[in-house]
Amino acid sequence: MIEIISYIFILAVCGFVAVPLFAKKSQIVDQKTDDLLHQKQLIRETIHDLEFDFQTEKLSEQDYKMLIAEREAAIQKADSEIGRTGGLKNKNFLNNLEAEIAIVKDKLQPTTELVCAQCGNKYEKGNKFCSNCGAQL
Ligand SMILES: [Zn+2]
Repeated sequence: MIEIISYIFILAVCGFVAVPLFAKKSQIVDQKTDDLLHQKQLIRETIHDLEFDFQTEKLSEQDYKMLIAEREAAIQKADSEIGRTGGLKNKNFLNNLEAEIAIVKDKLQPTTELVCAQCGNKYEKGNKFCSNCGAQL
């Protein structure tokens, strides 16, 4: 009996330790993904500047092509890094989950709860105007 209790106790302790560790790890991945996405954004902006410099003939075509190639390589590197950490996958998964939760919540919303803000008349989901007072819903 004591063995079972200590076994449960160990499991509980493991759970307490593991959950925050797991949460922290996914937070780090998220942070890293955000950093990489930010880096990509910055590189894109410098590409935009280079294009402008090239168009205004501040840069030779040779320099322009070289600098663009460098930046495109950096973007690809950031992309592969994002793919490696799986951060974006995590993000997409969470976004999808949030969207699905929103849909389910929407379905659970009883139609009887919808009432006109002006007169309190009940209305059906999808109605644009109140059938009682004509107020926009
Ligand atoms: Zn109304």
